[in-house]
Amino acid sequence: MATHIPIVNYLDLDDPAHLVATTCDECGAKFFGERLACARCGGRGFHHERSARTGTVGSFSIIHRAPAGVEAPYVSAIVDLDDGAVVKANIVGCPADPESVRLGMTVELTTYEVGTDDDGTAAVAFGFVPSKGAS
Ligand SMILES: [Zn+2]
Repeated sequence: MATHIPIVNYLDLDDPAHLVATTCDECGAKFFGERLACARCGGRGFHHERSARTGTVGSFSIIHRAPAGVEAPYVSAIVDLDDGAVVKANIVGCPADPESVRLGMTVELTTYEVGTDDDGTAAVAFGFVPSKGAS
């Protein structure tokens, strides 16, 4: 039976797949990935929180030159999640051109396989797709 493993430790594949924020106990700042101290207040205590699956495009760039094996062009973006967290991710499921991606466009988390090893274990990455009904 095929197994799926997330490509980063803050992606939880339990249905529906979602990101898990590392949230500061002191000020509530949200990060992805482990932290030794909060970048906002210096606090050292954190807890994990299920993060929003929807957000808006805060910034993006269309990447035309990619490392070998990476298909280009693609859209790299900063997504402002609806719960206040911010995450860097690719925008997928639409053409990688400036007519298809807009600042403030609503997007939704998605996952996709990026490779499979000889035992059939698939690595799963995350990205964001334009929300249905987004214009
Ligand atoms: Zn803090």
